[in-house]
Amino acid sequence: MTLPTYEQAMGTSREGAPFSNGTEGECWMGQHCYRCVNDKPAREGREQDGCVLILVALDQRTPAEWIEDQPFSLYHRYRCLYFRDEDDGGGGSEPEPIPDPPGQLALAPREPLERPARMFAPTAQDVRPVTEAVTP
Ligand code: SF4
Repeated sequence: MTLPTYEQAMGTSREGAPFSNGTEGECWMGQHCYRCVNDKPAREGREQDGCVLILVALDQRTPAEWIEDQPFSLYHRYRCLYFRDEDDGGGGSEPEPIPDPPGQLALAPREPLERPARMFAPTAQDVRPVTEAVTP
């Protein structure tokens, strides 16, 4: 799933800064952006290839791709639709089809039925303990 351009992200963003202060922003970004494949180039010194959604946030607007999750949690205030942990595996930021289970027979070919889709379910690394889900 390719990130939008900066202009597209700014055009769809919501008015208002996503965080009240730097601490809130650092906590959320530490949980997401600092381990996301989409901002990995910036962590490797290529800031110009970093995530444009962060730039939108730094411009005091809230990206449309950040969905309100837990408003009182420092670490899970938003769920970014483009988040992908750099340790999830795979070749890049594009989604890859789930491989067929070994030895599984297929009744019909999968390809015509598959289409690009956004994942709203958390990735394995983003699953948090229940006690953290009620953090004030
Ligand atoms: S895609 Fe989302 S989680 Fe990943 S770096 Fe960009 S804003 Fe952060």
